[in-house]
Amino acid sequence: CGIVGVLGNHQAAPILVDALKRLEYRGYDSAGIATVNDGVLDRRRAVGKLVNLSDLLVHNPIAGTAGIGHTRWATHGQPNITNAHPHQAGRVAVVHNGIIENFKELRSELTDAGYGFDTDTDTETIVKLCQQFMDGGLSASEAAEKTIARLDGAYALCFLFQGEDDLMIAARKGSPLAIGHGDGEMFVGSDAIALAPMTNKVTYLEEGDWAVITRNSFEIRDANGALANRNMRELDMKS
Ligand code: GLU
Repeated sequence: CGIVGVLGNHQAAPILVDALKRLEYRGYDSAGIATVNDGVLDRRRAVGKLVNLSDLLVHNPIAGTAGIGHTRWATHGQPNITNAHPHQAGRVAVVHNGIIENFKELRSELTDAGYGFDTDTDTETIVKLCQQFMDGGLSASEAAEKTIARLDGAYALCFLFQGEDDLMIAARKGSPLAIGHGDGEMFVGSDAIALAPMTNKVTYLEEGDWAVITRNSFEIRDANGALANRNMRELDMKS
């Protein structure tokens, strides 16, 4: 399973698929990507090997220089298209590695509030919760912050938003996640090796950290919401 994200200056889809290929060694049952293009969020997902996703993208491409990608190792729900990531609800899309332990509680809360569920995953509660906060008038990053604060369990997350061509939100608890620094570009990877062709400059999120990322900036906060200073490292990676 793996997570990648890009806020770049080139088409995101091929970069995301290539980055996911570099994480194939970890095993997965399905894969998907989402991009924002002229503010419009769109996604493509396929069961099985990444080549199935690549084939789908040949026939049904998605444009945009901002995107997130995922290889899934199903923990909750069958490995099928509906359950594949990115998950999307309203203006938000999310990729997730790990398990949301309190998803049943969140799901019943959200169901009571009138939000329907289409998948069997724990992950769908993340997008629905974030959608609820945005429906309530919060900005994308405020909604993501409030969402992350409600999640129990282990996760690496990357959020992408409709109407936001220059914003990703990444979060880490119990599952590794790194920000990759390019030249006017920014990346996210669950393993820095995914980013090797793009950059060897990475900042690892620490437990409980979440980050607001744009092409030219990033701000990391710890679990208490305080600004956190994490060192950037230059890795020695063979691309
Ligand atoms: N628990 C999530 C799911 O089953 C994420 C699995 C993963 O880490 O790939 O969809």
